[in-house]
Amino acid sequence: MSASTQVAITGAAGQIGYQLAFRIASGQLLGHGQSITLRLVEIAPAMQALEGVAMELEDCAFDSLEEVVATDRLEEGFRGADYVFLVGAKPRGPGMERSDLLTENARIFSRQGAVLNEHADEHAKVLVVGNPANTNALIASSNAPDMDPRNFSAMTRLDHNRACAQLAARTGHHVSTVRRMTIWGNHSATQYPDLSQATVDGKAATSLVESNWARGEFITTVQQRGASVIKARGTSSAASAANAAIEHMRDWAHGTPGGDWVSMAVPGDGSYGSPEGVFFSYPVRCEDGDWEIVRGLDLDEFSQEKIRITGEELLDERAAASDLM
Ligand code: NDP
Repeated sequence: MSASTQVAITGAAGQIGYQLAFRIASGQLLGHGQSITLRLVEIAPAMQALEGVAMELEDCAFDSLEEVVATDRLEEGFRGADYVFLVGAKPRGPGMERSDLLTENARIFSRQGAVLNEHADEHAKVLVVGNPANTNALIASSNAPDMDPRNFSAMTRLDHNRACAQLAARTGHHVSTVRRMTIWGNHSATQYPDLSQATVDGKAATSLVESNWARGEFITTVQQRGASVIKARGTSSAASAANAAIEHMRDWAHGTPGGDWVSMAVPGDGSYGSPEGVFFSYPVRCEDGDWEIVRGLDLDEFSQEKIRITGEELLDERAAASDLM
């Protein structure tokens, strides 16, 4: 086995963290031959629960798990980290406005960015899952001046996977035959799930589904899928979120398979009418540990308007958190 790879997870005793830690320790992120040290980070009140998680990890006797570090100190949690999953975030409490949520989380993610800058590997890949994920990624990256902003991203992969699954179900094909799906913009209700470029079993998705569905029910179903899971399960999606986080990081590190693309929120470069200076979800291809936005797609007016709307929301979020950048 090669030297142990350091994988840090914040909010590690939470719902998503609980799924993520075991799957990563079992080799599902980097392969079974790669030794892993898990660096699990929690806030002080959750440390007892985190000790329980560490005990269960030990009890799994995973071949590839070298060590578990459980801590409420970010400096220790992020020390030498190669891969970082920023999952823990303050949830919206009763009577809290969205702007309050932004400000509370901006404080958390600005400090995390600064500590990553000092203690993580300078080439660490950082994935932000905790909401508002796009703006939290922007804040963390802007507080880590020695790290390349390209090494930060926010998760829209669960939305991407949900969109693929909805299109597969609608067309009666297996989800593995769906390619070139895109989530544009913010991981929020303004996200734009776009099947206009997608194919199903090699055929254009637009030739297989009605335009009204593609522009209506398809989009709202993907946007509201999280709420539907909460209604059914009584608690928010965690296994599918952890699965998406692993797929996001794995493809980033090892490449997108088969010439397909995936959706990742990365630093906006103005392409397709998106704003610069925010983290915006685009279609991306990954290779050799890096990503590139897919170029040259022909987008209709409907798509351009959706991209404009979600981009405006991200600019508003950035303005609300500007003090901490
Ligand atoms: P979860 O593990 O369910 O969720 C963690 C974060 O992921 C939330 O911000 C959640 O957003 C977000 N998320 C992103 N995508 C999804 C998705 N598709 N489905 C569900 N969640 C998604 O939260 P828990 O409350 O179980 O655990 C959070 C942990 O973080 C706790 O153990 C807590 O102690 C810790 N924490 C850490 C903080 C810190 O680091 N300073 C601050 C506060 C808590 P959303 O809320 O919008 O669903």
